[in-house]
Amino acid sequence: MSGTVDLRSDTVTRPTAPMRAAMAAAEVGDDVYGEDPTVNALQDHAAELFDREAALFVPSGVMANVVSVKVLTDPGDEVVVERFGHSVAYEDGAPAAIAGVQYLTVEGDRGRLSAEAIDAAWRPAGWPYPTTALVSVEETTNRGGGAIYGLERLRAIRDLLDTRGTALHLDGARIFNAIVASGVAPADYGPVPTSLNFCLSKGLGAPVGSMIVGDADFVDEARRWRRRLGGAMRQVGVLAAAGRYALDHHVDRLADDHANARLLADQLADRVPGSADPALVDTNIVFVDTGDHDAPTVAERAAERGVLFGPADAHTLRLVTSLEVDRAGAERAAHVIADLVA
Ligand SMILES: *Cc1c(COP(=O)(O)O)cnc(C)c1O
Repeated sequence: MSGTVDLRSDTVTRPTAPMRAAMAAAEVGDDVYGEDPTVNALQDHAAELFDREAALFVPSGVMANVVSVKVLTDPGDEVVVERFGHSVAYEDGAPAAIAGVQYLTVEGDRGRLSAEAIDAAWRPAGWPYPTTALVSVEETTNRGGGAIYGLERLRAIRDLLDTRGTALHLDGARIFNAIVASGVAPADYGPVPTSLNFCLSKGLGAPVGSMIVGDADFVDEARRWRRRLGGAMRQVGVLAAAGRYALDHHVDRLADDHANARLLADQLADRVPGSADPALVDTNIVFVDTGDHDAPTVAERAAERGVLFGPADAHTLRLVTSLEVDRAGAERAAHVIADLVA
C-alpha cells in the first residue's frame, strides 16, 4: 500500500532522521543575548553564501518580508509588487498593519515584473503622490508557478531603482530552486537587491525558519523589528541546526523535485493534451488546466485516492513537488489527475 502523495506545498516537508540528529546535537545558548553558537554560525554562513555583510534568523517568511518592508519604508510609503505577490495576497495585510504602507500592484508575466513595467507604472514625483520607497519581487514566483527572474531581469530592475533612490527587496522564499535550476550562484544574487530573504522551511526541508540577508545596518534594524514583533527567540540553535543541515544537504537534491515536476507535466500533457505545459515548468510548481472540470472537485476526488493538492482557481490545479514526493509518487499523481481531468 503506497502512502499519500502530498503535492499541496513544499511547506509540508518533514525533518529527516539525519536532520533530527543534527538538531539533537546542536550546541545552544540564549540567542537574545547573541549567545547561540549554532544560530550565529547559520547567520554568518547565510551572509557569506550571498556575499553580504550580515544575516538574521527569523521564524517565518512572512516575518522576514514584513520586517524587511518595515525597515525599508516609512508609514504612508508605497511598495510596488506584482499583482499576485505573496505580500499582498497571503500575509493577511501584515505590511499595512505593521509597516503602514500601501501597495501598488502591477501585472507581470508569470508573476515577474520587468524594469519596463515598473517604469510604466511609476508615480509622478511630488505632491500629492505617495513615495515609492520599495519594490518587492519574488524568486521564484509563487503564484507565477515557480518562474525564475534570473539575474539579468533583476539587475535591470535594480538599475532603474537606483535612478529613483528606491530600495529593492528580493523575497527569495524559493531562491534555492532558482539557484539549482539556473546554475546562478547565491553570491551572484546577493549583491543585487537591498535585502533578501529565503525560506529554510520549504523545499529545503527544515521545520521552521527563514533568513534575512543584507548590509549590517539593515540587519541591525531588522533585529530590532524582529524583537518588537515577538520573534526574538532563545535556545533556537536546535532550529538553526535544521536550517544548516538543509543548506548543507538539501540544496542539490532540489533538482529531483524539478525533475518530478517536469515528469508530472510531461505525463499530464501526454495523456490529456492541453492540461499541462512542460515548457512552463521551471522549478517545482506545476499548474494543471482542468478544462470543464471544477478544480476544487478534482482536488476532492484526488484526495479520496490519496493524492493531495489544492486548486489555484476554479479551473486550475497547483501541484508542488518536494522531498515528500518521490518519482513513483509523481507518476501515481499524474495517473490519478489524468483520470480526473480527461
Ligand atoms: C511561502 C512564501 C512566503 C512566506 O513564508 P512562510 O514561511 O510560510 O511565512 C513568502 N514569500 C513567498 C514568495 C512564499 O512563497
